[in-house]
Amino acid sequence: MIDISQYDDNNVFSKILNGEIPCEKVFENDEVLAFNDINPQAPIHIVVIPKKKFCSINDFTKENDLETLGFFLRSIGDIARNLNLKDGYRVICNTGFFGGQEIPHLHFHILSGRPLGRLVS
Ligand code: AMP
Repeated sequence: MIDISQYDDNNVFSKILNGEIPCEKVFENDEVLAFNDINPQAPIHIVVIPKKKFCSINDFTKENDLETLGFFLRSIGDIARNLNLKDGYRVICNTGFFGGQEIPHLHFHILSGRPLGRLVS
């Protein structure tokens, strides 16, 4: 079962950040790195990760983390505009075991390129 209670550098996204594992980069700024998912679930499937070490969205607790979270969400908007995702997209953040999170470094998925259907009605 995934452990998101404590950050462990021995995860794939940490290794992508430090250059140990390559990625197909689509966007980067001071706070985030975005790259194509290795196992895409839609024609466009991008993973966005913060450069800071957060295991999951649970780690945003302190006031100064709000700035990072705001920057993170704004970066997703920047990516959508850069890629001209004008027909829309879905942002997913799997969290913990029940949420289906596999990699214990916070990441948001951006899915697009086709109608994705409704998840919640
Ligand atoms: P999650 O299940 O939310 O933790 O999502 C992890 C995602 O990371 C999955 O969609 C994987 O396909 C993707 N992934 C795993 N390894 C890599 C990698 N080396 N490069 C790009 N994406 C990866």
